[in-house]
Amino acid sequence: MKKILSLILSMLVVCSLVACGNSTTSTSSSSSSSTGTEKLIMCTNAEFPPYEYKEGGDFKGIDVEIANKIGEKLGCEIEILDIAFDSLIPTVNSGKADFAMAGMTITEDRKENVDFTDTYQNAVQAIIVPINSEIVDSNDMYDKKIGVQLGTTGDIYCTDDFGDENISRYPKIVDGVQAMKTGSIDACVVDDQVAKAVVAGDEGSFKILESPYAEEEYAIAVKKGNSELLDKLNGVIKEMKSNGELKAIVDKYIQ
Ligand code: GLN
Repeated sequence: MKKILSLILSMLVVCSLVACGNSTTSTSSSSSSSTGTEKLIMCTNAEFPPYEYKEGGDFKGIDVEIANKIGEKLGCEIEILDIAFDSLIPTVNSGKADFAMAGMTITEDRKENVDFTDTYQNAVQAIIVPINSEIVDSNDMYDKKIGVQLGTTGDIYCTDDFGDENISRYPKIVDGVQAMKTGSIDACVVDDQVAKAVVAGDEGSFKILESPYAEEEYAIAVKKGNSELLDKLNGVIKEMKSNGELKAIVDKYIQ
């Protein structure tokens, strides 16, 4: 009897490991691991409030909560790997993480390297300037110095529009915002909610321009061809959209 029970138990463990697409195994993304941990590894760049940030050593934010719900629904533990934004796609492709979730915008170029789930959130690229700046919209930015976060769509689009020589790239946008204080750059381009959080954290110093710079959609990235995980994530996103769970998480952070 005991033997049968333990056999059933071990079968269950194997099944759930397959369900999680565990990336702790080095050779396959869907076989059982010797440690027996059921987990999905999410890579992110926790410098992006309110989507992902650290508070007292804990990961917080919209993406973190959505990921935890994904874990709950798929019966997996979620482990978070906090890395530079421009390392996210290579990390997913190397198999060191199962998915990247970092307020990541779907772009045609990125689609060549990873597969994206359905959109879970719309966003815009906003322009932050010092409170007394005369810049009104992006048309005034052609001869200006612009700060962006390295490897983001803000970086890609601004480099295209305003020229590489006018772009200063920072690992985190708060460093760019500090550079505006010292006058070494004139504006920063970053996702709207992040812009709001940064501006609110330094009251009276900066403003966000009314007209947005670009419109975008966020999605989760998985390794190209990992349709098993992609389908599961899409299933969870669909469910969370229709039962209000997604909105409830977003509303906690964005008023
Ligand atoms: N949405 C932007 C992008 O995908 C920025 C994301 C981020 O910095 N975390 O490039």
